[in-house]
Amino acid sequence: MNWHFDIIFFNNRFLGIEWHVWKVIGWTGNVIFFSRFFVQWWATEKKKQVVVPNSFWWLSLIGSLILLAYGLKRRDSVFIFAYAFTWIPYIRNLVISYRTKRMEFYCAKCTALCSPKAFYCSQCGHKVADEPQPATV
Ligand SMILES: [Zn+2]
Repeated sequence: MNWHFDIIFFNNRFLGIEWHVWKVIGWTGNVIFFSRFFVQWWATEKKKQVVVPNSFWWLSLIGSLILLAYGLKRRDSVFIFAYAFTWIPYIRNLVISYRTKRMEFYCAKCTALCSPKAFYCSQCGHKVADEPQPATV
């Protein structure tokens, strides 16, 4: 065998891991959870400011729930404790984000999308509110 093959398959196992259904589920959760890092980084680089898109929270939620299921199946207290409560801020951040998005409005002058807490349009500087929008979050 060539050395490439030996790196990927050793001890007669792919990456040296003993694979079974729950190992695949656990690794799927790991990949989903880890991918959020790239999503957030890409969004930040794209806007050139720190951005946490909703996809980050969805990936966090789905990945952590899969990893929690894996931990419960394996009866691994470290995994269980690590992911038992993380869904709370993920869901809360999604709720706040969608509520805020629903309250956004368009500037009457340039039609740019404005934050519900904005007094002035960030694109044209037009005054869009005398008072901040009431918080419903
Ligand atoms: Zn405007």
